[in-house]
Amino acid sequence: MTIALMAHDAKKELMVQFCIAYCGILSRHDLCATGTTGKMVAEATGLNIVRYLSGPQGGDQQISAHISCDEIDLLLFFRDPMTEKSSEQNEIDLFRLCDMRSIPVATNIATAEVLIHGLERGDLDWREIVRTAI
Ligand code: PGA
Repeated sequence: MTIALMAHDAKKELMVQFCIAYCGILSRHDLCATGTTGKMVAEATGLNIVRYLSGPQGGDQQISAHISCDEIDLLLFFRDPMTEKSSEQNEIDLFRLCDMRSIPVATNIATAEVLIHGLERGDLDWREIVRTAI
C-alpha cells in the first residue's frame, strides 16, 4: 500500500509522534509526504519517505495528482482547523479527489489510529484489488 502523509504546521509534531508510535506498521508500506512533513518524519523515524515539494510550493497538488492516478491508497493528513489553509481550494480539491476514488482519509489522529489498525488487519486490502482492476 502507498500511504501519503501531510500535516499542517501546528500538527507536524503530532504526526511525528504518530509515525514513531506506528513505525513498525508504516515501514511495511510505501510512504510519501509533502516536503516539510516528510523531512520531519524521516528524521525522527528513519522511515524511507518519498518527499514531494513543500505544501505551499505545490506538494499538496503533487499528492492530489497521484491520488487522481490511483497511486495512493491511504491519506493521513493531520489538519489544523484553526489555520486559513484548511479552507484553501487546494485542500478542498484534494479531499474531493479522495472521495472520487474512495480513498480512506484521516484528518485527525483519532481517525488515523483507526485506519492504521485497519490497515494492519487487512481491512484495506480491497484497495489492491481495485487498483489492479483499473
Ligand atoms: P508541508 O506541507 O509538509 O511541506 O509543510 C503541508 C502543508 O501545506 O501544511
